[in-house]
Amino acid sequence: MAKLDYSPQPIFSRDNETSAHSRVFTSPGKYIQGPGVLAKVGRYLSTVNLKSAGILASQRGHRSEVPMVEAGLKEYEIVSTLTTFGGECSLEEIEARSAELGSAGLDCLIILGGGKCVDAGKCIAHRLDVPAIVIPTLASNDAPCSALSVVYAPSGVFEGLIEFFPSNPAMVIVDTEIVAKAPERFLVAGMGDAMATWYEAKVCVNNPNAVNMLGSRPTLAACAMGEICAHTLYADSLAAVASVHSGEPSEPLERVVEANTLLSGLGFESGGLAAAHAVAQAYTNLPIVEENYLHGEMVAMGLLTQLALEQDDVEAKRATEYFASVGLPVHYGQLSLDPRDAAVLDIVVEATLNFGALTNLPFDVSATNLRDALLSANDLGASVAQEFGDEAYRRLQGS
Ligand SMILES: [Zn+2]
Repeated sequence: MAKLDYSPQPIFSRDNETSAHSRVFTSPGKYIQGPGVLAKVGRYLSTVNLKSAGILASQRGHRSEVPMVEAGLKEYEIVSTLTTFGGECSLEEIEARSAELGSAGLDCLIILGGGKCVDAGKCIAHRLDVPAIVIPTLASNDAPCSALSVVYAPSGVFEGLIEFFPSNPAMVIVDTEIVAKAPERFLVAGMGDAMATWYEAKVCVNNPNAVNMLGSRPTLAACAMGEICAHTLYADSLAAVASVHSGEPSEPLERVVEANTLLSGLGFESGGLAAAHAVAQAYTNLPIVEENYLHGEMVAMGLLTQLALEQDDVEAKRATEYFASVGLPVHYGQLSLDPRDAAVLDIVVEATLNFGALTNLPFDVSATNLRDALLSANDLGASVAQEFGDEAYRRLQGS
């Protein structure tokens, strides 16, 4: 059993406020992306000495992708043990699946699924003390590459628990044929999550007191990844969506999947977070949002609040127009909320102020300026939605 209470901050943070920071960059061992790569899982795993692999996947995954993974492993004489992910990345789920796999003598855990399955799988691999091999079936989130998991209550509410691991996944394998077959809304949610990467990393780079997820200063490499992530999304998102509609692989789709998965994951972990993710996690406290919206959709709204807090009108307008064009929510109505509901704002404000990375901003965030920012982002979003229409949003939300 691995030591459960691992935390990178005491290891990589500076000793005290007067000592120098170090710069730390962390990443998965290998990242493999392309159409049809799922069929080659056994070949990729044959590069390391493996005899026995666990597979964590949802019921849906058991029917769709798991048979191909099992066949691929068999070809290279790797024995597999299958278990079912119950749907929530909660401690209860993590402990139950760890107990189930604990006696199987595994050399690695293959995690096949969406963001919550990936986060739960990384926690289970850590408890079993085996490397994680992540095969995301959605390009909707920044979870696959990082060495941390967001753990939720069984109800899905974020209660402040983030688990950290000494190692990132050993391999991340993204089959673009599979992620392109998922509903368009997932790819677009990933764009919201990924677009925040650069704006949050930029806050951390420019503030000498800000730190990344390891408690250290961001490297130039992490910043460059965040920057090209945003650049790629602004340039290629609409073409990538068109490619999902036509069912044809394309270069823009490959680039956007890489932005959503690799650049976003490395960029947030080694670059650092700020207000966008603080606000996004706060929204999970509202059941109507938690039950009906995806992480990346909450991050999009969070980024608009961050840009309002920073009073960066140019980038706020640019990001709002981009989100509206791809169909991400840009105002409270599009999260099924009413901005005049003071109780809702109180919940979001309180939970946002409790999120650690908020202190990466170079100014103090108070309940007052946060509330103003939430409302001014909402006003800008409402006017952009009126000007540009909300066809893309309505198409994705099925309304
Ligand atoms: Zn995220």
